[in-house]
Order: sequence, then C-alpha cells, then structure tokens
Amino acid sequence: MDNFGRLYIVATPIGNLQDMTFRAVDVLRNVDIIAAEDTRHSARLLQHYQIVTPMVSHHQHKERESSLALIEQIREGKSVALISDAGTPLISDPGYHLVTAARQAGIAVVPLPGANAAITALSASGLPCDHFCFEGFLAAKTGARERRLHALQYEPRSLVFYEAPHRILASLQDMQAVFGPERECVVARELTKQFETFLFGTLAEVTQQVAQDTQQQRGEIVVIIKGYNSREQSLSVATLHVLEVLKADLSAKQAIALTAKLTGAKKNTLYKWLLDHKE
Ligand code: SAM
Repeated sequence: MDNFGRLYIVATPIGNLQDMTFRAVDVLRNVDIIAAEDTRHSARLLQHYQIVTPMVSHHQHKERESSLALIEQIREGKSVALISDAGTPLISDPGYHLVTAARQAGIAVVPLPGANAAITALSASGLPCDHFCFEGFLAAKTGARERRLHALQYEPRSLVFYEAPHRILASLQDMQAVFGPERECVVARELTKQFETFLFGTLAEVTQQVAQDTQQQRGEIVVIIKGYNSREQSLSVATLHVLEVLKADLSAKQAIALTAKLTGAKKNTLYKWLLDHKE
C-alpha cells in the first residue's frame, strides 16, 4: 500500500456563498494544499468560511507544469483539493490534466459534488432535462461558431451552452439563423445571485428581448435550446439531410422539388422550413 495523499475535486458556489456543502468546507480545512484556479478570487470564499489552508495557483495557462508539481506533492503523502473560481472544477474550467495525471499515477481522486451553472439552469428551465448535451462555450470566431451550431441543428436533446456577456447577442442571432426563429430557448443569467433572471420563449422572442435590454447582456449566462423535434417540424432528420445536401449545389426551387420526389415530403413544408432557416 502506498502512502500517497488524495486529490479532492471540490465544487464551490457559482455566486451565492451559501451554496457550499459542509463536506466541502471540511475537506478544504483539512487538506494540506488547495490548488485554486485564481488564488486571489478564491481568497474571499476561504475567508468567508475561515479556511486557512495554504493555496497554490492552478491556472489553465500553466496547467501541465502545475499538475506535475501537485502530483509530486501527493506522492509524498500530501492531500490536495482542487477548486476553480466557481462551480465544479474541470467543467469549462482547469483540472483535466491534473485528474488524468493523478489517475495515471494511481492516486485516489475523490469528487465532492456541488454547484454547477449548467445543471442549475437546466433544473429550472422548463425544457426537457431527461436527455441533454453540455456544449460549454461556443467558439469566439463567427465561422467556427456557425459550424458547431450547424452540426447541432438536428440534435434532439436539449443543448446547454455557456456564453460570455459580450457575445450573447451575436450567439443568439447565430442560433436563430441555424435553429430557426421558432425553436424554444431559455437564457439563465446571474444564477443564485441578486439579479438572477430567466428569459423564456422562442429564439426570435428571446433574441429580441436581449437586443432591446442591454442589462441582459451583462453578467454570467447559460443558454439552453430545446432539442430538435422532427414531429413538431413535420420533417424527418433524413429528409432535412437530403434537402441540405441538395441545397448546397442547387437552387432552392430545384432542391425542394428533388427532395420532395426522393422523400415524399410536401413541397410547401420544405419551402417553409427553408424560409425559417434562412442564413
Ligand atoms: N465550472 C463552472 C460550473 O461548474 O458551472 C463553469 C465555469 S465557466 C469558466 C464560467 C461560465 O459558466 C460563465 O461564463 C457562465 O456561462 C457560466 N456560469 C457560471 N456561473 C454562473 C451563474 N451564476 N449564472 C449563470 N451562468 C453562470
């Protein structure tokens, strides 16, 4: 039996400091080292809970080097708790290299569950939660963002995105262009904080609200898009695939006529779909 320490992965609040578990406080008080994404940011949380454990930085820009150093300490018997600025480490946050390296070294990795913005938003969204895809942040560049959205166009599960406030409007506009103005969505902002807001509606409605109210373009944001429903659209995924492929090389009229012939779909349904999904 080795004398390795343990690596604890500790979730912390996403805004409201009360959303900390008793176990998280206990572990953070008792480990030898807290590895934090940003030590200055986490100092406030530690101070609030009177945790005086030494902190070291585990920032994404130095994740590999920092992981090696932490693994060395754990091998020497020290226990380390990883925390990020908010929520669950590794979820759009640093920690992947550290956990992988710990697993490879045979170190016990112990997760402590707690806050996470995606799950918090989903739980109150009113959109289907039985199956969902966590997409994290979309690319900042328009081309890459559009490509990703196109790849998700017919995904039947609810789609959960994180988005930065300065990109929220552009992202919603791109989503509307790709998923269509009628697709239902929820924008969850500032969860667990004083100005927590949920916007519900179609992509057209919510995009308009966000465009008209700059307050909605501030703070921390989760966007949830209802998954594609072929019954609601009355066009199957296979039919839409045929239409998309043909539309890439033919005029809309030719693509519609040929798709109708190949799949049996109605021409005016195909026409309406193309209108709704005009880029
Ligand atoms: N690890 C975190 C988690 O478990 O949710 C996510 C960290 S990621 C760097 C930060 C993003 O999460 C924000 O840009 C926002 O999209 C989302 N987020 C974090 N806190 C939030 C909150 N209180 N309300 C809404 N979204 C939040």
